[in-house]
Amino acid sequence: MKIKAINGFKDILPEEVALWRQLETTAREIFRCFGVEEIRLPILEKTELFARSIGGTTDIVEKEMYSFTDKGITLRPEATASLLRAYIQHGFHVRQPVQRLFTIGPMFRHERPQKGRQRQFHQIDIEIIGGEEPAIDAELMAIGQLFLTRLNLEVSLEINSLGCTRCRPGFRKSLIQYLNDYKEQLCDDCKRRLNSNPLRVLDCKSRTCKALVQDAPSILDSLCDDCDRHFSTVQEHLDNLGVVYTLNRFMVRGLDYYCRTTFEFLTSDLGAQAAVAAGGRYDGLIEQLGGPKNTPGIGFAMGMERLTLLMEQQQKETVPVRANIFVAALGEAAIKHGSSLIYQLRKLGLRADIDYKDRSLKAQMKQAGRTNARFTLIIGEQELEQQKGILRNMDTKEQTPFPLLESTEHQAEQLRQLIRTS
Ligand code: ATP
Ligand code: MG
Repeated sequence: MKIKAINGFKDILPEEVALWRQLETTAREIFRCFGVEEIRLPILEKTELFARSIGGTTDIVEKEMYSFTDKGITLRPEATASLLRAYIQHGFHVRQPVQRLFTIGPMFRHERPQKGRQRQFHQIDIEIIGGEEPAIDAELMAIGQLFLTRLNLEVSLEINSLGCTRCRPGFRKSLIQYLNDYKEQLCDDCKRRLNSNPLRVLDCKSRTCKALVQDAPSILDSLCDDCDRHFSTVQEHLDNLGVVYTLNRFMVRGLDYYCRTTFEFLTSDLGAQAAVAAGGRYDGLIEQLGGPKNTPGIGFAMGMERLTLLMEQQQKETVPVRANIFVAALGEAAIKHGSSLIYQLRKLGLRADIDYKDRSLKAQMKQAGRTNARFTLIIGEQELEQQKGILRNMDTKEQTPFPLLESTEHQAEQLRQLIRTS
């Protein structure tokens, strides 16, 4: 019986890896310019870390975590909590007043798998810790915008403010009051959320709930003076940087720790999985996790599966990697010569292939075609004897003699010159 991968867990195949690499390389290039340093984190953490940060009444903690209950540990469902745990544990706050960090890796959530939604998925996560200035919120969103633009992706940015512990309770109360009148019409999830996590009703995907909240009170009308000023200054900075955005007062995010600015980068090309990146501010969280007092932070995570899907959909064809040279060797002595030659070519940083099976020339030419080689060097017994191989340009089909003189090292160098100038 064949054993298959677990539902919601996927292999990333060689032909897909190019896009993943492009994502990672682009992220690293941009982050470097913004002074964002990489940190690599474990994928298992104490369950308590997530319960305390993400919040007990959120979907993630209620039903999506992969936990080893006998050991009290959990596969991380997101990266912010782990990153802040590391920030606190290693005393990062004494290194620099404002610390910019990123991490890339797999996350685990037990949700229903569908296009752009898996149980193991990957995120590029970035956090700016130690600054509460609105300019930082804008800078972070600008990083996201620049990254997505570099990848030629068309997405839109939506922003909202969730207020703080001073102004949100008042809003929560008036929202519950409003929703209570429509209680019977809400979906089952929202009936349950109404008292535990009423803000989540605002971004419920169900059509009836969506319609019901249209006239609900807006959080933007309940912000305290500080939060209101913060949010309008964030918008001024976004305008200043030329980052285009729209306000969405229904966006609340699924994690408890957010306050003030929240944002999402959205696409209309992936069906229900519209968010390719999302995040927000979490000013009280570091203290709540046992870190230094008054350490604000803001961050966001990009979903790499959704980004690669979008790249496939929105980007033009990428050029496949070409094998530079294929050596078609006929007979034992030629294979020996050929294997030494391709090793020299590889040492020079060129892609080179050979078929050790000593098959017919026709079979080997077919193999050369499969590797998408630019040149094939044909070496048989006669060619070895006369020290003259046949070099075939696979695009023009033109064949020229190639001297098999001196060492294979020397021959590899000759081939490199040839490839460079052709
Ligand atoms: P959604 O509303 O789509 O469930 P979320 O609010 O749960 O997203 P976040 O926790 O904010 O997602 O994670 C940030 C990003 O990570 C998302 O915008 C998305 O691109 C990606 N992401 C989240 N969950 C998954 C998943 N199960 N599979 C693939 N990507 C995911
Ligand atoms: Mg989710």
